[in-house]
Amino acid sequence: MHEIAVLPGDGIGHEIMEEAIKVINTVEKRFNIAFKLNHALVGGAAWDKYRKHLPEETLDICEKSNAILFGAVGGPVKEQTSSKWCGTEVNALLGLRKHFGLYANLRPAKLYPALAFASSLRDDIAKEGFDLLVVRELTGGIYFGKPKGRMGKGEDEYAFDTMIYKRGEIKRIAQVAFKAARNRRRKVTSIDKANVLTTMVLWREVVDDIAKEYPDIEYEPMYVDNAAMQLTRNPKKFDVILCGNLFGDILSDEAAAITGSLGMSPSASLSEGNFGMYEPSGGSAQDIAGKGIANPIAQILSTAMMLRYSFDMNEEANSIENAVDKVLIDGYRTPDIIQKRMKKVNTKEMGTLIAGNI
Ligand code: NAD
Repeated sequence: MHEIAVLPGDGIGHEIMEEAIKVINTVEKRFNIAFKLNHALVGGAAWDKYRKHLPEETLDICEKSNAILFGAVGGPVKEQTSSKWCGTEVNALLGLRKHFGLYANLRPAKLYPALAFASSLRDDIAKEGFDLLVVRELTGGIYFGKPKGRMGKGEDEYAFDTMIYKRGEIKRIAQVAFKAARNRRRKVTSIDKANVLTTMVLWREVVDDIAKEYPDIEYEPMYVDNAAMQLTRNPKKFDVILCGNLFGDILSDEAAAITGSLGMSPSASLSEGNFGMYEPSGGSAQDIAGKGIANPIAQILSTAMMLRYSFDMNEEANSIENAVDKVLIDGYRTPDIIQKRMKKVNTKEMGTLIAGNI
């Protein structure tokens, strides 16, 4: 039995998760497979019952499942100092990443030509569309390197962080990127700053070696400053972008921003083996929560990623992605991506349309 821990969380999390479940139920019927959905609380919703953002009960449910489908956590910004919301994201999200050793973060960024108007890119670049995948190392690098701290006083006060990568950590994430490229357009661009940082010299050496194991994949190393520029000038040139934690944080947000809407951006965080956590890149969107107008596409595409990476169900994942393409081409839009002459739909209607095209 394929078991999925379903953690809707807060705000729009519930609304968009309902549509993802609709899609899962359709995939079950269409492909004659069965999933067991194990529901659990996280974030502010868990606080109300357990006085914890990531209670043991939820961790137990995640542990007995093969994958976690996560919605979003967090409360209204003006209430974030209250005990219910204070630290929600850190406790819930980082807690799950740490507990399950989710070291590989995969964020596809796709600009559908039909949605070119929503992109911040220049019209002539946007109308070409693009489809790339950022593979970011998530548990190492400068965010976690020790020592870090502050010393000294007055004008001599200083602060420091340590950028550190072990050979094994680089190998592990590079393998994820090259394998992912085999299911895509077979190209990996590895991002570094090997002209300045010693850590990045090792990064490049290791990735150069791994690339030799994948002669079928086109490989190109690129400095991070150039990559940031190429993303806005010629995003079509990228297929898989491989990065360490710091550069991946920045470039994956840049890539999501040029697609136009947060409601379209899915993500996967994988650990060793097939376990993973799948979630939209956006948050709990308190400004629209409860109105039934959130875009469920990021949650639905996260579900497709879950089928592909945790359950090895490529055909099923493709059928969901193709259904999303079809509904967009047919002109259906939630308010965040609405445009003149398009058909406006709400969260539930969008979910039903996508499920109907699977
Ligand atoms: P947000 O991502 O929730 O919203 C930013 C903007 O994008 C809002 O205008 C929102 O309406 C819009 N948006 C996001 N997802 C959308 C969707 N599916 N459909 C349509 N529009 C969508 O960021 P925020 O407003 O800065 O944060 C709200 C709360 O979410 C905060 O508590 C924050 O800490 C939390 N947060 C959680 C996560 C997470 O759970 N992974 C990520 C980011 C922020």
